[in-house]
Amino acid sequence: MNEESCYDGHMNSAGSFDVIVVGAGHAGCEAALAASRMGCSVLFITLNSDKVAAMSCNPAIGGIGKGHIVREIDALGGEMARTIDRTGIQFRLLNRRKGPAVRGPRAQADKSRYSEALKQVVEAQERLDLVQDEVVDLLVDSDGVSGVRCLFRGEIEAKTVVICAGTFLSGMMHIGTESFAGGRLGDPPSRGLASSLELNGFDLRRLKTGTPPRLDGETIDFSKLTPQPGDEPPPKFSFRSSEVNGNKIRCYLARTTPNCHRIIRDNLKRSALFSGKITGVGIRYCPSIEDKIKRFPQRETHHIFIEPEGLSTSEYYANGFATSLPFDVQIAMLRSVDGLQDVRITRPGYAIEYAFIQPTELHPWLETKRVKRLFLAGQINGTSGYEEAAGQGLLAGINAALQARGEPPFVMTRREGYIGVMIDDLVSLGCREPYRMFTARSEHRLLLSADTADVRLMGHGHRFGLIDDDTFSDMKRRQNEREAELFALSHKVCRDECQDEFGNKSLLEIIRRPDVSYADLTGRLGFESRLGPPDQDIVEMQVKYEGYIRREEAKIERWERLDGVRIPQQIDFDAVPGLRAEIRQRLAESRPATLGAARRLPGITPAAISVLSIYIASLQRSERNPKPSEAEGSRRI
Ligand SMILES: Cc1cc2nc3c(=O)[nH]c(=O)nc-3n(C[C@H](O)[C@H](O)[C@H](O)COP(=O)(O)OP(=O)(O)OC[C@H]3O[C@@H](n4cnc5c(N)ncnc54)[C@H](O)[C@@H]3O)c2cc1C
Repeated sequence: MNEESCYDGHMNSAGSFDVIVVGAGHAGCEAALAASRMGCSVLFITLNSDKVAAMSCNPAIGGIGKGHIVREIDALGGEMARTIDRTGIQFRLLNRRKGPAVRGPRAQADKSRYSEALKQVVEAQERLDLVQDEVVDLLVDSDGVSGVRCLFRGEIEAKTVVICAGTFLSGMMHIGTESFAGGRLGDPPSRGLASSLELNGFDLRRLKTGTPPRLDGETIDFSKLTPQPGDEPPPKFSFRSSEVNGNKIRCYLARTTPNCHRIIRDNLKRSALFSGKITGVGIRYCPSIEDKIKRFPQRETHHIFIEPEGLSTSEYYANGFATSLPFDVQIAMLRSVDGLQDVRITRPGYAIEYAFIQPTELHPWLETKRVKRLFLAGQINGTSGYEEAAGQGLLAGINAALQARGEPPFVMTRREGYIGVMIDDLVSLGCREPYRMFTARSEHRLLLSADTADVRLMGHGHRFGLIDDDTFSDMKRRQNEREAELFALSHKVCRDECQDEFGNKSLLEIIRRPDVSYADLTGRLGFESRLGPPDQDIVEMQVKYEGYIRREEAKIERWERLDGVRIPQQIDFDAVPGLRAEIRQRLAESRPATLGAARRLPGITPAAISVLSIYIASLQRSERNPKPSEAEGSRRI
C-alpha cells in the first residue's frame, strides 16, 4: 500500500483491495455487495454514509420494465428486491389486465427505512468496508487503474475500481433563475473525480433530470383526492422473501386545472428549462410539468399522484409534477389544484444537470475500453432510475470480482434479460438522452416476463456464489412442479358437466382458449392444482402463448446467427453496393462489431443487413481465394 495512505480496513494479502467501489447509491450497493460475496475484499467509499441507497427522486421501486429488472437483480443474487419487500408500504402489479409479458411489480417505499435496511446489509457483509470520503482522483498508469486518491485517506490501491457516482459529477441544480452546485439537494457535487476522468481522456457530456416538490401531508385535503389502494395480496419482488411488508398506506390521485396550466404558461420564461440556462438533454419519457403543458397544449388536465415518502414522515411526493419553475410559482400552481389549496411545500422541485460518460466507451461487461480494470455503472453511464442503476451495479460488481480473480467476464445476452438488453443498448448505441427501461426495448419481451426471471438467471447467480444451494434447489423444485402440472393438464379432460361446452379436449387445450382462466380450471372444471397462484400464472402464460414463444425462439436463433458474423474492422461502408446514404453514414458512425449489433442500430433495415451480409461473405471469399495478381502481390510483401 502507498505510504501516503492512512487506511487499515479488510485488505487482501497483498496489502491492497480487490475492488474499490465509489458511490453508495443504488448501483454502488449492488456492486459492493456482489464483489464481496464473491470473496473479494471491497472498500466502499461514499460522500455521505448516512445516505446509502438514498432515493433522490421518487420513493418507489419497480414499475413496467423497471420491475422486471428488479426481479432479475434478485435472481442473480442482488439485494434490491429483498430490501423493497421488507420496507415497501404499498405493493401493486401494474398492467394486471394486460398480457403477462408487460406486467410489472411496483412498490411505494418507506424511503428512510429502505436506505437504513440496505445500509445494515452492507455493514453486516463480510470483507466489505463502507467509509465516508471523497474520491478526488484515479490512480492510472499505462497498464490501467491501480486505485484511487481520497480527500481524507490519500491513495488507496486496488486491483479494480467501480465508479457509481450517479448525478454527482459536476452536478448543477436549477430552480427558476437560481443555480447552485450539488449532486442532489443538500449534497455537494463531485468535481475532482469529474476532472480526473476528463484528464484520463473520457469525454464527459451533460444530461439533465428533474424532481417534483415534496408536500406537507398535514396541509393536503385528502377528501378531495381519489384514493389509490395497493393490491391484495401484495405481489412480492424477491423469490427469496417469505412475505412482504404489506399495504400500509394509500396513494392519492389529484388533477391539474386550467388555472394551474395558465400559471405555468405565464411563467414559462422563468423556468430554468425554457430560459436557456439548462443545456443538458432531459428525459423524454418523464417530462417536467412545464414540458407537458408546452408539448400537449390541448390537454385540459394532467394526473398528479400524491405518494407518501414513508410511515414516519408526513411528507408526500407529487409524482408527475417535476418542475424547475421558481419557488413562488411552484406554490401558486400547486394551490390551484383541488385538494391542495392550502398546501405547504417542504422541499422545492428542481432540475439537475450532471456529467455522464458515453457508454460506447464500455465493453459489454462494463469495463472501460480506455482504462483497464476501471468499471462504470449507473447514472454515470447515461441511464436514469434506481433499478437501471442497480442492474448495472450488480453486473459491474460481478465483473470487477471476476477480473480481480483473473477470470473471464460475464456478459448477459439480450435474450436472457432486460439487464442484458439495457447494457447492449448502452454499449452499442450510446445515449443521446437519459436511458430508462421499457418492455418495448426488448425484441423478445414475451420470453422476458417478470415471473420467469428466476428460471432465466438464477443459474448465473448460483454459479457466482450469489445464490445459495437451497434457494437454487427450491427454484428447480418449483420448475419441476410446473412441468408436472403441465403433464397433468395434458392428460385430463373436464368433468361430465362441462363436456357439452368443451367436448373431449384435454384441460391443456381448454386453457389455451383466451376466455378460459386458471380459476375456471380449478373451479368449474374441477382440476386439483398442486401449484400456488404465482406458478399457476406462469403455467397459464406458457400454455396460452406457446405458439408465440416458439416463433420468438426461432427468430432469436436466426438473430443469434447474425451476432456471430463479425464485420471486418477496416470495412469501408461507402464501398458496399446498394446501401442508402443515411444507412452508410449510421454504420460508419457506429462501426458495429457484428451484423447483430448493426441490426439493432436505429434506422437499419433488414434489407440493409442482407446487403451487408452478402458483401461480407464476398470479402471473406476473396480473402480465402485471392485473385492471382493479389496473391502474387501479397507474396511480394
Ligand atoms: C433531482 C433528481 C431527479 C431525478 N429524477 C429521476 C426521475 O425522474 N426518474 C428516474 O428514474 N430517476 C430519477 N433520478 C435519478 C435517480 O436518482 C438515479 O437514477 C439513481 O439514484 C442513480 O443511481 P446511482 O447509483 O447511479 O447514483 P446515485 O443514487 O446518484 O448515487 C451516487 C452516489 O455516489 C456518491 N459519490 C459521487 N461522487 C463521489 C465521489 N467522488 N466520492 C465518493 N462518493 C461519491 C454519492 O454520494 C452518492 O451516494 C433523479 C435524480 C435526481 C438527483
